[in-house]
Amino acid sequence: MIDILIKNCMLITVNSKREVYHDGAIAIDQGKIVDIGSTADVAPKYEARTVIDAKGFVVMPGLINAHMHLPQVMMRGLYDNIEAMDKLKNYTWPIQGCYTEEDALVSAKLGLLEMIKSGTTAFISTGLHPRYGIPAVIQATIDSGMRAAISKYVMDLGGYALDNGALHKGMHETGEASKKQALELIEEWNGCGNGRIQIWISPRSVGGCSVDLFRWVCETAREHQVGITTHWSEVQNNVDYTMDSFGLRPVFFAKSLGLLGPDVTFAHGIYFDDAEIDLLAKTGTNIAHCPICNSKLAMGVARVPEMLKAGVNISLGNDGMGVNNTADLFREMRSMVLLHRAVQNNPLFPGSAEAIEMATRNGARAMMMQDRVGSLEKGKQADLILVDLKQPHFVPIHDPVSEVVWAANGNDVDTVIIDGKIVMWHRTVLTMDEDAILGEAEAIKDKILKQAGVKAQHIWAIR
Ligand SMILES: [Zn+2]
Repeated sequence: MIDILIKNCMLITVNSKREVYHDGAIAIDQGKIVDIGSTADVAPKYEARTVIDAKGFVVMPGLINAHMHLPQVMMRGLYDNIEAMDKLKNYTWPIQGCYTEEDALVSAKLGLLEMIKSGTTAFISTGLHPRYGIPAVIQATIDSGMRAAISKYVMDLGGYALDNGALHKGMHETGEASKKQALELIEEWNGCGNGRIQIWISPRSVGGCSVDLFRWVCETAREHQVGITTHWSEVQNNVDYTMDSFGLRPVFFAKSLGLLGPDVTFAHGIYFDDAEIDLLAKTGTNIAHCPICNSKLAMGVARVPEMLKAGVNISLGNDGMGVNNTADLFREMRSMVLLHRAVQNNPLFPGSAEAIEMATRNGARAMMMQDRVGSLEKGKQADLILVDLKQPHFVPIHDPVSEVVWAANGNDVDTVIIDGKIVMWHRTVLTMDEDAILGEAEAIKDKILKQAGVKAQHIWAIR
């Protein structure tokens, strides 16, 4: 008797052969996929406690968000027409710099809920600050059932690129304090939640960390075998900073620090030249591409087609809710394809195959979990989603790989399974109280603006 048998589904495995089944089945036991193939081959072999007849559904790996900010979920829709640096300095950082632990926890829970409801099963959250009450955020993530790499910011300067003192005072930390907490969190939480939780280190962007601190991050992460994530080459002034200060472009500056490798995920990665792309590919350094955020803020266009052809591992992220405004990775997949086809005037590349790979197996590689998740294969952890194609915007159905990228959105996800456990069933999240979380977020939305002295931007006056 096994735990779960899913049968009669369209199955997108994203395995090394990219096998797709018109009528597939998956057997799950004790958190793992124990068998996978056609319904005719797999289903007769097993009796299961839970049998899911998934006719009309696509079953595919859970989506992986390789760059998001749990504390920024409460900034959704506040400032949709503002320039990037203005947004950071006058909205994002003051609001976060005035957060209480309760504010940050509400933001995190809302983000976890939204990710589950839109089919995301794992994520990398960029840097957390002690004022967010990091242990409670980690515990909420464990309780949600999600898989995550949660990173702790470290910093010893208060600037951003060439802009000294740009960071809000409420987000400052000393080098010693931030290093100490990073080590404590790794010690206490790395590997918890049945191995679902990793604790990473996130050096603040260039201008926020000294060379010595960047080097400490690299040495410490390798000693503890945890990952590193940071924003890199996200705007032109990042390049200006490393060129002016060190005479090196950002990726070569990273090389001088030891900040390249399969355990490093750079968010955005927009301003790379050919030599930098070559070095990223050779070192196995990961990129978390954020097409909607990059487009909305007109940050520039990442050289995704060139990086893909060079062999760089590119995953997808949504970034913050103030710059996106959702965590729906289906929108991110489609936007990635649209953006690069439009810019390159090439209707053939990238396509739905690249989009799904980025949101699944490439994301797993960025999280250093490619041996455990990111594709549906025997022996891997059972992180998967059921997408309901029995709806007008999918019919007629010829190719599920095409449908998922060109027609689906997060609301089409019906059921989510993480680590072999059903976390969402027929759109009801079983691990979280959805009404309570939505109520808490509405209840504190004005307070978090008032304590930061910030007003929401209205496109047209609201009476
Ligand atoms: Zn970000």
